[in-house]
Formats: sequence, structure tokens, C-alpha cells
Amino acid sequence: MNPSVRWDKTVDVVVIGYGGAGATAAIAAHDAGAATLVLESASEGGGNTLASFGGFVGHDDPSKALAYFTALFKASHSERDEQLLRVFVEESAKTPDWLRSLDRDVALQSYGGASYPQVAGAEAIKRYVIKGKNKGATAFAQHLWRLLSSAVEQQRHIPVLRQTPAQRLVTGRNGDVVGVIAKVNWQDLAIQAKRGVILASGGYEFDQATLKSSVKGSPLHSLGHPGNRGDGVRMAQKVGAALWHMNGVSCAFGLKVPAFAPALMMSIGNVGQIFVDRNGNRFVNEGAIERHAALLAVDFFDSQALSYPRIPFYLIFDEKTRKRAPLSRSAGLGSAGSSYTWSKDNQKEIDNGWISKADTVAELARKLGIPDANLSDTVGGWNAAVLAGHDGHFGREMPEDAASARIDTGPFYGVEIHPALINTQGGPRRNERAQIVDPFGKPIPGLYGAGELGSLWGLLYQGGGNIAECLAFGRIAGANAAAGR
Ligand SMILES: Cc1cc2nc3c(=O)[nH]c(=O)nc-3n(C[C@H](O)[C@H](O)[C@H](O)COP(=O)(O)OP(=O)(O)OC[C@H]3O[C@@H](n4cnc5c(N)ncnc54)[C@H](O)[C@@H]3O)c2cc1C
Repeated sequence: MNPSVRWDKTVDVVVIGYGGAGATAAIAAHDAGAATLVLESASEGGGNTLASFGGFVGHDDPSKALAYFTALFKASHSERDEQLLRVFVEESAKTPDWLRSLDRDVALQSYGGASYPQVAGAEAIKRYVIKGKNKGATAFAQHLWRLLSSAVEQQRHIPVLRQTPAQRLVTGRNGDVVGVIAKVNWQDLAIQAKRGVILASGGYEFDQATLKSSVKGSPLHSLGHPGNRGDGVRMAQKVGAALWHMNGVSCAFGLKVPAFAPALMMSIGNVGQIFVDRNGNRFVNEGAIERHAALLAVDFFDSQALSYPRIPFYLIFDEKTRKRAPLSRSAGLGSAGSSYTWSKDNQKEIDNGWISKADTVAELARKLGIPDANLSDTVGGWNAAVLAGHDGHFGREMPEDAASARIDTGPFYGVEIHPALINTQGGPRRNERAQIVDPFGKPIPGLYGAGELGSLWGLLYQGGGNIAECLAFGRIAGANAAAGR
């Protein structure tokens, strides 16, 4: 043992981070007989898990599911650990029963399938949420979090120390992880972990330095939990962990306004909306961007202009579309969204100055700072394509009601849109036993990982995959940490 540390507390297993993965790991460690303690840096638990939609992916055929997930890695040339994927597929199949073991009244609802239906094996992919009474965009996440947190705190009485951020891992003479130094009220708290430490502290969505060194595209905003600042990446690096998937993100579009630190999620590309880059040109089929892969649609760098012309880009629409419905189908999700109600006719957001308004397209271009002749040409070209029923540039499907898609009725509107991270995937690499490994693949004794920190997902992501991984690898990490070194 490190002779310089005087322990303030001793338990069997310390879990760092009280989101979906940390809660699941704590339950599993406790149920395997370990005295378990959870550390959470924020004043409340839940993390990104509670800001999410709350869906998790499952399947009805393991070999088809494995083929589908494997194809996503092959297509994106991301690093894939076949054994980890296999275990994920096997363990995910047990998740519905495990959830019901926490509360036999838990009822699941299926809400969709594969993010990429064109890929072989996609028909086996199912997505689920937990039914319940709550309403609103994060209702399913609330149902999930209530289930997990009550299993931790009310049913098992596992202690959770809030506002107690882990600062560093303590290693023994052989490099094995034997404890954690946390901070509470500006004082160090040294906690000995006799059997193991589980890192479940989420990603680096709110750590610009780590984002800049690992993810292409800038600026990147985030939709999720501001407490996810990459602490787990640094703690794991310090004790010799290998990092992987650092360029992997799940990324949507967002609107960044000064009122909130996180961005507001924008599910856009709906009828009557086009996207233009900072030169005023369309650049994509707006209706065909997979909602977690938005960054891949905009991270183009122009090496002549020396800029990212699509970050930010502009959402353009007219008065008909303004009145029809809220711009975004996902307003209400994420940390900022859950405390803001978007107006039905978008008027409040115009009044807030979040949406620019002008009587003519040329005037709108000048307000947005893009070349007015280009924007006028682009809007004219779009209206002609709608009339012809064919988008010759990007093959966007045209609605039957062509008039609704045209941008021809003033006033005209524009909104600055950024890529906005749902979460990051990278971090310390783990094996199929959830042990964090060094750069040579050797497990670091006593150290385990779960959740989006060091996720198995790479560049191309299946919706629902992160929470499913929290539940699957949370259980594996908890059980193996409890079993000891
Ligand atoms: C808008 C939105 C929608 C989403 N929808 C879905 C979805 O439907 N399905 C899906 O699979 N995924 C979804 N995601 C992603 C998913 O929610 C996350 O990837 C997942 O919940 C991460 O869980 P986690 O337990 O790993 O981390 P988190 O839930 O983020 O928990 C990590 C916790 O660790 C704490 N922490 C950080 N540093 C420290 C430290 N030093 N010491 C102690 N504690 C620390 C944080 O405060 C946080 O509470 C969504 C995310 C967002 C933002």
C-alpha cells in the first residue's frame, strides 16, 4: 500500500460518478457482497443520463445484432474490440430482466430500431424506454433514473457522497489502484478501496481542451451535463491507462444562447427548412442526417479559406414555416432544454433575438453576415427544385404538399446552428471484464470502467447504445470489482 496515504474511510468498492453507469455498477457491486461507496461531483446525481431521452438499444437476434454493430465499425474505420462487442450483445439481452429485478412493475415500451436500416442485421435492432407517468422530453430518462437511484439509495442504502469530486487515484507499489482522493469542502478525503475502483464519471463534453485535441470541428457545444469535464480521462491516464475512441462523439445540432451553458438541442431539417453554409450555399440533404451523426455533416475544413464554412451554419425558413410548428422536434431534451419551453410559433425565440428576421432574403443574408447574392440564388434554386419535385443537388425527398416546402413568404428567418455534443465516447480502454487496460492491453489491477467514459462506441453510433452500455458494463464492472483483484 502507498505508505504516504492515511485513509479517512475504507470500503470494498468506490464508484466515481453517479449517472446511469455509476448507479448500475454500485447496485451490481453491492449485490455481489461488496461494501460500496459512490462519489459524485455535482450536487445531484443523474449526469447525462438524466438529461437524455432515456432510450436503450436491445435486439432479438444476437448474431444479427453483432453483424450490424460490426458493420458500423467497419464502415467508419473505427477501432473495434470484437470480444467487447460480443459481450455487449450478450449482456444487453439480459437488461430487461435485470431492470425488472429492481422493480417487478417495470414496463418497457419499444420506440424504434436501427439508426442505419440500410445495414445488414438492422432488422434485429430494437430500442426501448421505461414506461411511466412523467411527461415531457426527458420523461423516460426520469423513469430510468428513478428506478436506478431508488435501487441504490432507498432499497440498498448505498452511501452516495454528493459534491465530492474524485481528484486522483491512489496506486500501490505494483501500480494497482487501491483508493481514491476526493475533495469535500476544500479538504482531501482519502478512501481506501479494498477490492476496486470503478470510473463512471462520464465524458469530456465540457472540456474544450480535450475536445480540441481529439475531435475535428470547432466550436463544439454540448447538450448534456456540465459536470462531464473529462476528469476520468485524466485520472486514468495518470495511472497508465490506454485511451481509445477519443474522436468518437454522438453529436446533434444545437442553438447556443448566452442564457444557458449547454446548447439547446435542435432536431431540424424539417419541411420548409434548408441549411446554408457561411457562404450562403446549401451543402447537404437536410432531411437525411442521422441525428447522432450531425458533426459528420458539418466538419468539413476549407483549406483555402482556412475555416470551417459549415460551423456555424444557418437554418433558413419563411413565415409559413415559422407559424406551423416549433422549429425543433427535440426542444426540451438536454440540460438546457429541460429548463426552457420553446414557443409553439417560435415568436418568443424571435423576441429573444435567437432567430434573425428580415423582410427580404437579401436583408436576412446581410443580418446573418453571409453574401446576399448567394443566399438569394440558393433560396431561388431551392424553390425551383421544389416546383420541379426534384432536388438535383442533394436528392432531398420532396413533400407531397410542395407549397409548404417553398421559402417564398416573407418575413424570412435565419438561425445560427452549431454541432452540439450529445456525449463523447472516448476515454480509458476497457476489456470485456470492464477492467481498464494499459497501452499493452494488460489490466490495471483494481481499476474498472463503465458508461460513456471509454465507451465501446467509435465514430458511428447506434442510438440508445450509450445507455445500453451503461446498464451492461455497469453490471459487469460492479460484479468484477466486487470479486476483487
Ligand atoms: C440530450 C441527450 C439525449 C440523449 N439520449 C440518449 C438516449 O436516448 N439513449 C442513449 O443511449 N444515450 C443518450 N444520451 C447519451 C447518454 O445519456 C449518456 O452517454 C449516458 O447517459 C452516460 O452515462 P454515464 O453514467 O456514463 O455518465 P453520466 O450519466 O453523465 O454520469 C457521470 C457522472 O459523473 C460525475 N462526475 C464527473 N466527474 C466526476 C468526478 N471527478 N468525481 C465524481 N463524479 C464525477 C458527473 O457529474 C455525472 O453525474 C443522450 C444524451 C443527451 C445529452
